[in-house]
Amino acid sequence: MHRTEFFQSITRTWTGLGILGLLLLISPVATASDPAIRVLIIDGQNNHDWRKTTPILKSCLEKSARFQVDVITSPEGGKSAEDWAEFRPVFANYGAVLSNYNGQPWPEAVQKSLEKYVANGGGLVIVHAANNAFPDWSEYNKMIGLGWRGADYGARLTLAQDGKVVRTEKNQGPGAGHGSQHEFPVVTRDVNHPVMAGIPAEWLHVQDELYHGQRGPAANLNILATAFSAKSTSGTEEHEPMVWWIPYSKGKVFTTLLGHGDYSMKCVGFQTIVARGTEWVATGTVTVPVPKTFPTAIKTSSIEAAN
Ligand code: ZN
Repeated sequence: MHRTEFFQSITRTWTGLGILGLLLLISPVATASDPAIRVLIIDGQNNHDWRKTTPILKSCLEKSARFQVDVITSPEGGKSAEDWAEFRPVFANYGAVLSNYNGQPWPEAVQKSLEKYVANGGGLVIVHAANNAFPDWSEYNKMIGLGWRGADYGARLTLAQDGKVVRTEKNQGPGAGHGSQHEFPVVTRDVNHPVMAGIPAEWLHVQDELYHGQRGPAANLNILATAFSAKSTSGTEEHEPMVWWIPYSKGKVFTTLLGHGDYSMKCVGFQTIVARGTEWVATGTVTVPVPKTFPTAIKTSSIEAAN
């Protein structure tokens, strides 16, 4: 190749790469070539069977090429400060952190590190009993908004039939609880939210606990879905929040109260919402599709039946 031609060729190549880069930058949707979102699942203590449920949460994310998942397991309960000294998750390495943890308080350094991570734009996902954890950690309570706490802890939120949020102040009404496990309909309350777009207005969830009377600062909640807690299953006769998100400085915290047992987590509805919520808190967009096997208003769907 002549020298001038060589330089022209190089220039063309760089221009081509530049245009390609620009196209990638302005591309509004994620593509298969997008790097996977790194997710960190935290477990190690829970009054639920985390050894059984963490693998389900992991596979629920990893069945989409969108995610690459690591798991960090805390020391067991009752371990010394020395054991805890090794538990130092590096949150900043991840697009999202998913808590399957409900146990003793983390060391203060880990608490501060999570606060900083979310405040700087990180994504946090809270699944079921993870909202039971850390009643004395005030920033955590702001992140989750509502937790499994007594009526004397803070306010409670329910939804009226028309979707209006009803606030019940502390010491009024029931504290945290749940009736007997059963299948129940989940009602979409924000059809325009990217996580909920394309999800049916109402869909039947598999057997699970239906949490009621959750308490906390109850500030800045964006309620995405509710479930009616019927008296016939020892509930409150109210529409209880099931799925919501809260902005925390530059970050987002996404909570689902669904997911008591491994069988509950095998619901295609649960899995879809967890995957889409995780993608959304990490990137602000949702590309994980709503599968054809998604439950309907009258029919549950779990991964075993769907596969
Ligand atoms: Zn439970």
